[in-house]
Amino acid sequence: MRVYNFSAGPAMLPADVLKQASDEMTDWAGTGMSVMEVSHRSKEFVACAADAEATMRRLMGVPDDYRILFLQGGAFGQFAGVPMNLTAPGDVVSYVNTGQWSKKAISQARAYDLDVQVVADEAASSYTTVPAPSSIRAAEGSSYLHYTPNETIGGVEFGYVPDVGDVPLVADMSSTILSRPVDVSKFGVIYGGAQKNMGPAGLVVVIVRDDLLGRARSITPNVLNYKLMSDADSMLNTPPTFSVYMLGLILHWVEGLGGLEAMSARNLAKAQALYGAIDGSSFYDNPVAPDARSWMNVPFTLADSALDAEFLSGASEAGLKTLKGHRSVGGMRASIYNAMPMEGVQALIDYMAEFERTHG
Ligand SMILES: *Cc1c(COP(=O)(O)O)cnc(C)c1O
Repeated sequence: MRVYNFSAGPAMLPADVLKQASDEMTDWAGTGMSVMEVSHRSKEFVACAADAEATMRRLMGVPDDYRILFLQGGAFGQFAGVPMNLTAPGDVVSYVNTGQWSKKAISQARAYDLDVQVVADEAASSYTTVPAPSSIRAAEGSSYLHYTPNETIGGVEFGYVPDVGDVPLVADMSSTILSRPVDVSKFGVIYGGAQKNMGPAGLVVVIVRDDLLGRARSITPNVLNYKLMSDADSMLNTPPTFSVYMLGLILHWVEGLGGLEAMSARNLAKAQALYGAIDGSSFYDNPVAPDARSWMNVPFTLADSALDAEFLSGASEAGLKTLKGHRSVGGMRASIYNAMPMEGVQALIDYMAEFERTHG
């Protein structure tokens, strides 16, 4: 039996995609081998990676003057990769702090002998808000401004793209990429780990504007160097072949459903239904400001936290898995990425209503 998995990551994948991967597991693309067993230099795998790149470019409308790189080391790797590729020691860089993932990116940047300016910080609201558009300004002379469009732990999401003029805008889109359309031309660098919305763990996608290539510090590991990886079609070394293959299947699945406009409509409907259920009850609560609520990660608490364990065990019995909130926040968190169908969200809403009726 397939359950509804509300994990924040690695997260649920579409059943159709898993079925296809399973069907071709032992004989992929007529090779008589699984995709995990073929050489990354084989014509079959090179075509597979090129198709994933082209499909992503088409789906997201990535302009011609951007490279799409398939790297490893996760978003964490890019917390270091961004400063190593875009700065020299002593440079000024700007960061927006909207919660736990922002903080990790900031603390990693501090290891690179930079003047790290936190130009907006939502501490005053305990990270339940995003800054007003007009309050995000890059510090003078910044090499880039970094922000986190969706804070996976706090459940806080930007409804707009900051305008920072000519300063390259860098975004950690790990938990929101592919969930709605985005104007890539507004960004210098977009990066995201695959395991939330794009496939299995092990792959991080980096979309980088051409003029930002070739600035890396000499200490940058070759596998994190945007220019070197771009020149090698992301195959300087062995790429995470299975994850790249799965990304391709996911991208075709998204395209088959109507692309990012259609995903956005689906995701908005799911989020509205769940927030509606939370707001319509005095038993459940979500602390995030309505205009900053994430479409992807919905944290909520019960009126009496002593009931948390019972809520979770009953949910698990009903096939609603991994709803426990992040260890730093407590309560619950429902992650409802692209692969979560409306039926899963509705099943959760029904369970919540029944639990409130019997325990509220
Ligand atoms: C999950 C997540 C990360 C961490 O990604 P790794 O692939 O584990 O390095 C970073 N940023 C955001 C916004 C995330 O959701």
